[in-house]
Amino acid sequence: MNIVIFGPPGAGKGTQSKFIENKYNLHQLSTGDLLRNEIKNRTKLGAEISSIINSGELVSDEIVGKLIEKFISNDNYKQKIIFDGYPRTINQAKNLDDLLKKYDQNIDIVLKLSVSLETVKKRILERKTQEKRDDDSEEIAIKRFKNYEKSSKPVLDYYRQSNLLKVINGEASISEINIEISGLIEAIKG
Ligand code: AMP
Repeated sequence: MNIVIFGPPGAGKGTQSKFIENKYNLHQLSTGDLLRNEIKNRTKLGAEISSIINSGELVSDEIVGKLIEKFISNDNYKQKIIFDGYPRTINQAKNLDDLLKKYDQNIDIVLKLSVSLETVKKRILERKTQEKRDDDSEEIAIKRFKNYEKSSKPVLDYYRQSNLLKVINGEASISEINIEISGLIEAIKG
């Protein structure tokens, strides 16, 4: 099963992805984590993208497209991926479809976690004390949320049209969301 988990920064995508990963034996593919690793490992790409990430803007579709193809083309992960933080734009959504087709795969479900800007701000400030991410300031969080609002609508419409979209109340507790997600996954597993 391939799953897309969608939502603004601080919606709980990472937390829920880890839960699904363990419960259903899937692999989380977080483009944010992959990009941060490039920065941490001081690669050429890392140097190129660090100022973009720290300003709250999106990295180019081409760069993230290359990173995810490495993962999708790996047979160990075939039809076992949770896409966390990808796609974020309609271009990326179409690119993902093309890549999955190329490697004979598909998306089974898109889980959208809905949360308000107030909740995003609160969660990101909490996360800052734990993960010490440079882009987790209130100002950058607002910018990332606004960017999300701008680019997410066509992506959501795209998945709504293909009947893959399930909207989840991301304001609920972690365990309530776990239960809801499990129910949705079990329903399509049949
Ligand atoms: P995240 O960990 O998902 O919150 O992502 C952190 C940052 O990485 C974002 O604010 C973007 O700058 C960059 N990023 C992550 N995923 C993508 C993506 N799919 N497209 C473009 N930029 C991304």
